[in-house]
Amino acid sequence: MASAVFRFYEELNDFLPPARRKRDLRLAFTPPAPVRHLIETLGVPHTEVELILINGESAGLDQRVADGDRVSVYPMFESLDISPLLRIRRRPLREPRFVADAHLGKLAHYLRMLGFDTLLASDCPDRELAAIAAAQHRILLTRDRALLMRRIVTHGCYVRARRPLGQLEDIVRRLDLCRCIRPFSRCMRCNGDLEAVAKADVEHRLPDDARRIFSEFWRCAGCGQVYWKGGHYQRMRRLVERICSH
Ligand SMILES: [Zn+2]
Repeated sequence: MASAVFRFYEELNDFLPPARRKRDLRLAFTPPAPVRHLIETLGVPHTEVELILINGESAGLDQRVADGDRVSVYPMFESLDISPLLRIRRRPLREPRFVADAHLGKLAHYLRMLGFDTLLASDCPDRELAAIAAAQHRILLTRDRALLMRRIVTHGCYVRARRPLGQLEDIVRRLDLCRCIRPFSRCMRCNGDLEAVAKADVEHRLPDDARRIFSEFWRCAGCGQVYWKGGHYQRMRRLVERICSH
């Protein structure tokens, strides 16, 4: 039996039981053990980890831990430049695309409203969900830690907040999405592409208020849903201004 000392930083402590937070943790293990396995044994999904130092040196997820090692584990840094160090995965995905688990339906709708390609996986076993994320290079969004611990998942995001707008705010901040927001490019209902349409083409389908007030319209190429800059859009715009003005 070997043992190593682990220290988790910042919000990674949220995954630990209260008594184990923000302190050195000694973990006994049977070598050889990849650092990823030991980190997950302690309860932290590898998708949440951005940087690992073993005895002060950057390490990848598969590096083996030896008896007596000291392992420091960090989440994504917002303000600190760690470019001289080895990130444990290539980042970011060039075009952020998502797959959300079935419990995050509202978050998926909001992401689509901001223009992000987001699949909502309802009635989909965990194994399949992880496979979709890996095969389609999608960031897996879930509140299920075990799902993020699946080896096949390279990019995932543990959704901390419980309310959908709080979840959206977390994701936009964490993944630095402000510059990628493109409203009226994607259907909230089905994730299809939206196209601008002339008012005359959709007039017969509009409620009276929308027909009277608005002049710009979009239609989903997939399901035919018609969109305009109504109340939903105004609320979203205020939210985006608040999140992205920092
Ligand atoms: Zn649609």
